[in-house]
Amino acid sequence: MPSTPTILIAEDEPAIADTVAYALRAEGHAAEHVLLGGAVVPRVQAGGIDLVVLDVGLPDMSGFDVCRALRVVSDVPVIFLTARQGELDRVLGLELGADDYVVKPFSPRELVARVRARLRRKTQAAPARWQCIDAFELDRPGRRIRYRGQLLDLTRYEYGVLEALLARPGAVLSRAQLMDQVWADAVDSSDRTVDTHIKTLRAKLQAAAGESGGDPIRTHRGIGYSLDVGG
Ligand code: CA
Repeated sequence: MPSTPTILIAEDEPAIADTVAYALRAEGHAAEHVLLGGAVVPRVQAGGIDLVVLDVGLPDMSGFDVCRALRVVSDVPVIFLTARQGELDRVLGLELGADDYVVKPFSPRELVARVRARLRRKTQAAPARWQCIDAFELDRPGRRIRYRGQLLDLTRYEYGVLEALLARPGAVLSRAQLMDQVWADAVDSSDRTVDTHIKTLRAKLQAAAGESGGDPIRTHRGIGYSLDVGG
């Protein structure tokens, strides 16, 4: 059995860090706290961290840069704490490899629920069962997708969008349908959210396909999106 999950909190506001640590400990997790972004990678590399709660606005470097550096050495789950809409847009729009985000001000209960959900997904990762759909391979239990043999590094919502499109190859899904399926539990989302994720998804598919790749996602103006497979 794994021991108590240990959560690393990177946050420069002591009041927020204390609240988060208290809520996590009440849930039975161990919590450690660092004030600076530069401390995150060394601490994760030292071992024993199961999840990182990462403030975007840290004094020495941005949470985005921390996450990027972290992804080079570790696939530990990351949940961002964002303070402003501008930060949230970047979380959604960039290829940072974050697993989730919470917008300040947040309730400790909400954050703990996200942490619990993310840890559960990690421990339940079943053995891979790859299902082939044209150039795609889907491991639904493991929430992983390969494209042309390359494992895609997808955020939670990018995975959701691609999984929804793969479930009905060739069918046009409207933005509203994608919102319902993929963002069912999200509070802040808009049609633009779908478009933003389609954009980053396309970039990742193109990067995976390299020279040989066209764009398998088809835009149906004013309607939605579909996935080209076969043919
Ligand atoms: Ca901060």
